[in-house]
Amino acid sequence: MNNSGKVEVLIPRSLFSFDNQSHIHVDNEGFSAVKIIWKDGKVTNIKSLNKEVSLPKEILFPRFVESHAHFDKSFSWTNFPNFKSNYENALSVNLEEHITRTPKKVLDRAEKSLNLAISNGYRAIRTHIDTYYSQDKEIWSGLFDLKNKYSHFLKLQFVALAQLEFWSSSDGDILARELKLHNGILGGVLVPPFNKRKAEVLLTNTLLLAKKYNLEIDLHIDESSVSPAAGIRTLIKTIDRLKSNVPITCSHSSSILCLKERQILKLGKELAKRNIKVIALPLTNFWLLNRDDINMPLRRPVAPVKQLQRSFVDVSIGSDNVQDPWYPFGDFDPFYLFSYAMPMLQLNPWDRLSLSALINAPSRLLKLDWDGVVMEGCPADFVIVKGKAWADIFSGKISRKILINGEWYKK
Ligand SMILES: [Zn+2]
Repeated sequence: MNNSGKVEVLIPRSLFSFDNQSHIHVDNEGFSAVKIIWKDGKVTNIKSLNKEVSLPKEILFPRFVESHAHFDKSFSWTNFPNFKSNYENALSVNLEEHITRTPKKVLDRAEKSLNLAISNGYRAIRTHIDTYYSQDKEIWSGLFDLKNKYSHFLKLQFVALAQLEFWSSSDGDILARELKLHNGILGGVLVPPFNKRKAEVLLTNTLLLAKKYNLEIDLHIDESSVSPAAGIRTLIKTIDRLKSNVPITCSHSSSILCLKERQILKLGKELAKRNIKVIALPLTNFWLLNRDDINMPLRRPVAPVKQLQRSFVDVSIGSDNVQDPWYPFGDFDPFYLFSYAMPMLQLNPWDRLSLSALINAPSRLLKLDWDGVVMEGCPADFVIVKGKAWADIFSGKISRKILINGEWYKK
């Protein structure tokens, strides 16, 4: 059988599970040596390797999940650079780019992104797609075709990222109905300065529309270094007034970090109580927010992953933009994100909660069948890299093999 095989590898302790857990040896960086056997694309056996045998020279991860991307604008930097590197100019260049958009340009960017993501080791991606009134309708049908075309390799989930006003319009209603058929999500932006009363009305309409079609909402919210948590507080107020139980994701939530410690934990509890999920996006936040061309600012707002986890919020860490006006770097490589996010956010790779935010929480966010913990019966969906320690993974010259449903992926 092509989709059967076995490997002897190291694997982070929090990323596997089997019945007889009593004799597992874990090294001081949190790796265990295991033998994994798969048949017909599923793991049939996993067992701990004896300490005395020579240690494996490869490290195994489940294939990765990206919680927040922007396929529609990736690689547009060349034609639409943002040399000021701040949020305001990113937005104005983004709007210039919209004027030149054609379905072909957007679909080419999306397909290039997909191919890179698959060969770098992703198995699922939630991507936002800019959505506006004058948009060519063919963009959406082309994107839904791409989702089907690549479904064997990668699960794609779209968020229609519109101004909140759009979800109060008849066009918004039509698209929401369409999104429901394709497992899509309603998206919007709530970033200061905004009029609170108007924001409450628009959020109300968006929540009601989501309820009507049984959809989720993912907002770019509080992506700012001012008015800490203003958007999230307005959102919570609206949710409570409507007694809404629409599933919500708060992407960015950066300005929360500007609150006092005590307030962060209190807000975290409010989010957890309503099962609101958060995605921290350190790369774009560090790049765009609180920019100072002369002095390097100490204050670098990004969702406080550790405090939110301590308040039992399910926090994912995502990449956000790739080579567009919002961020000039990146190439849909999970190890690029890992290599920067860990030192930026002071996350230890040997801690379970760090890997949870990068691997298991995004799997839960996208409601995937598998949360990424390797065990009997799980899909043989792995990324195997050369190395024996975390330093080998963050070396910048990683060599990887991708296994998809038990078969080695060839580009
Ligand atoms: Zn984004």
